[in-house]
Amino acid sequence: MTAEPPCPFTTSVASLLIGALGPLERQELEAHLRRCAMCLEELILLAPLPGLLHRAVPPGLCSRRDP
Ligand SMILES: [Zn+2]
Repeated sequence: MTAEPPCPFTTSVASLLIGALGPLERQELEAHLRRCAMCLEELILLAPLPGLLHRAVPPGLCSRRDP
């Protein structure tokens, strides 16, 4: 029930969505999201939280493309 998140950044994703991260942390996490599918999935999972995604996530970040 209490499985640890495999990537330490996944816990920060929620903080990003509610705008609880500082500018630097946010920038760092955004960069991380671009290369971590796990955190991106977490972001997409949490994204439906009302009204939060719009202002928290930069446009284009969620558009996944396979290499
Ligand atoms: Zn990650």
